[in-house]
Amino acid sequence: MGKKERVLSGMRPSGRLHLGNYHGALQNWVKIQNEYDCHFFVADWHSLTTEYADPSNLKDWVENMVIDWLACGLDPKKSKLFIQSWVPEHAELHLLLSMITPISWLERVPSYKEIKEQLSNKDLGTYGFLGYPNLQTADIIIYNASGVPVGEDQVAHVELSREIVRRFNFLYKKDVFKEPKPLLTLTPKVPGLDGRKMSKSYNNCIYISDTKEETHKKIMPAVTDPARKRRDDPGNPDVCLVFDYHKLYTPEAEQKEIDHGCRTAGIGCVDCKKKLLVHMDKFWDPIREKRVAIAKKPKKVWDIVEDGTKKARKVAQETMLKVREAMKVSY
Ligand code: SF4
Repeated sequence: MGKKERVLSGMRPSGRLHLGNYHGALQNWVKIQNEYDCHFFVADWHSLTTEYADPSNLKDWVENMVIDWLACGLDPKKSKLFIQSWVPEHAELHLLLSMITPISWLERVPSYKEIKEQLSNKDLGTYGFLGYPNLQTADIIIYNASGVPVGEDQVAHVELSREIVRRFNFLYKKDVFKEPKPLLTLTPKVPGLDGRKMSKSYNNCIYISDTKEETHKKIMPAVTDPARKRRDDPGNPDVCLVFDYHKLYTPEAEQKEIDHGCRTAGIGCVDCKKKLLVHMDKFWDPIREKRVAIAKKPKKVWDIVEDGTKKARKVAQETMLKVREAMKVSY
């Protein structure tokens, strides 16, 4: 069997992970562990690009994120799970790449303006925030990863990484890095409890770490089809977030029944939500149980990332020898 292709992806620790994070990325990570040589990292420096003013919760966020990962099925025997800031070579490569990356390339990354506008309460006119796609490039290419699992909104970042790689290899006349390619992941729609995008800043999340009772308390009052005011009004599952959740958890035959029942007022929203919770619980109960058990042994969690970091760092160190040599700083 040939060597598995190397894949790399990271997640910013910024609080507990919610179902949007799970279905948008983590579920896919768990799936691809068997197909690829996977490197998954805690992007703690990336968190600081926006959370630099108050990093007091960072350690707790890191720990809880890794607990979420393990509970959901990331397996340290299959994948390398590590912490970005424990591999200082990422910072060195970021610095060296910043020498060759034109500012205009960074300014035109679509998410640069978008996030700046979204987080207008924070001062993101910083060097670190402008340069974060450069750090992201360093994260990827330091492992010579060939694939980066991303959603559509991240493709521009990978494209920029490819441009930086081409520039580096051209300037120093050596193929030190290979161009990473995006592995497009189709992500299902996971709305928040108010129908908007699930996001901590909207306070509309169901978290992986929520108990069964907390989840039930959140689902029962969730908004449904706003046009369905009374029990005998027919509803429209296409505009109802509860039905979006059914698509994630409920077997297809039952989804069809619910769809029909909703459109003909044969089923009420309360019953519809109760049916959903049966399937959600079936899916999440084992993960919740595993999470509680893992959270009782935080030392083991830190040991896992320490071990993963040691392995990842070895690769990063080897790459940096080549980079220093190419840039003539290897005396
Ligand atoms: S019956 Fe279900 S799908 Fe239809 S509006 Fe109510 S909660 Fe939504």
